[in-house]
Amino acid sequence: VKVAIIGAGVSGLACALTLEKHGIVPDVFEQLHRPGGVTPSIQTILQVIHRPAEDPLRDLAGRFGITLTPINTVRKIVMISPNRVAAARGRLGYIFERGHSRTSLDCELYGRLSRARVRFNAGVGYQELAGEYDRVVVATGSPFLAMAAGRYHGILRTWARGAVVEGSFDPHALIVWFDKSYANNGFAYLAPFSARKASLILEASDLREEEVEPAWRRFLETEKLAYREEETFLREHNVGICCPRQTGNLLFVGLAAGLLDYTLGFGLYNAVVSGVVAARCIAGGSSYEAGIRDMLAKSYYTYLARLALNRMDNDDLDKMLEVVGQPWVNRLVYNTGLDVVNLLGAVLEHGQPGPLREQFRSPAT
Ligand SMILES: Cc1cc2nc3c(=O)[nH]c(=O)nc-3n(C[C@H](O)[C@H](O)[C@H](O)COP(=O)(O)OP(=O)(O)OC[C@H]3O[C@@H](n4cnc5c(N)ncnc54)[C@H](O)[C@@H]3O)c2cc1C
Repeated sequence: VKVAIIGAGVSGLACALTLEKHGIVPDVFEQLHRPGGVTPSIQTILQVIHRPAEDPLRDLAGRFGITLTPINTVRKIVMISPNRVAAARGRLGYIFERGHSRTSLDCELYGRLSRARVRFNAGVGYQELAGEYDRVVVATGSPFLAMAAGRYHGILRTWARGAVVEGSFDPHALIVWFDKSYANNGFAYLAPFSARKASLILEASDLREEEVEPAWRRFLETEKLAYREEETFLREHNVGICCPRQTGNLLFVGLAAGLLDYTLGFGLYNAVVSGVVAARCIAGGSSYEAGIRDMLAKSYYTYLARLALNRMDNDDLDKMLEVVGQPWVNRLVYNTGLDVVNLLGAVLEHGQPGPLREQFRSPAT
């Protein structure tokens, strides 16, 4: 089988690695000149989101055959609203480096390829490849090819304004801030590279570009943060669901398919899983849509949770943290196997299927 993969990000590389295991050598096209993109950052995989899996990394290794090496574990998450602070403690997740450094997730996956050919500086569209290859996997991390194919339903328009900052950090702790006055329908967070360096990001939704920098300044002032900023970035982050994700010889994976936790904007785990499932489908003829059915349902639930979060004002955010900070919540939610996302999603969906519900369903196979 002749396979092209567009994008050498997490989903594209997971797909390429799995194809290699099945004896298929794909051609990978990457628009940039090296793996890992331009800006280094920290990303996390949180345990609570990927239940019923007891441990998301063990799950990726065991069920999907992809081992990821985190730079650290998450043992504490501090959540801050205008008048409340709550903390969760336990085995909460994993911290990864993204970017072009040797220790980044992107370089780790890239380094494991043995026979796949990766062509850098090769930004391509699917039309030019569809005739030449038996299968084309769209792993571009963006909605543009799904838009071009008329399969895209927009959901989130956010701006990620961030910086690598220097200071003194707990390398196992994340800090998340919720405040409508600067994040609007979004939030801000700090995630550590190490005890001296961290990623500080404002993920502000539904703002115009010219409103983002003032929002960033307001965030720093409000939270009294005065770190030295290095490697700053501003990135528009448009995400939405692609439907269907498999037709003809095309398969959309990762963020290009809209497989995301829409509450937090997290999609690493989904990128790996969908890349692997797409490869297995190509190698063995199984249905891709059926293989990602549960993930799609979960993505939809996180979209409903995001809508609920968007409706809150700062008083509601304070009340939310008052509940989240209770010791029984810590015991019940963070240190158990309770599938919080599916439970909450089922409650939010009850009696009122949202307009996008169908887009998140796998067609019957
Ligand atoms: C600021 C920020 C913070 C985030 N934090 C987290 C987090 O903490 N946890 C988490 O799970 N997720 C997080 N995410 C989301 C996560 O980055 C994505 O879900 C994940 O990278 C998706 O993987 P992917 O393979 O779909 O796309 P990517 O990893 O983005 O890879 C896409 C690749 O395709 C290439 N490409 C694009 N178009 C073309 C083209 N036409 N031709 C050739 N190549 C092309 C790109 O250059 C890129 O290398 C964050 C995202 C952002 C923006």
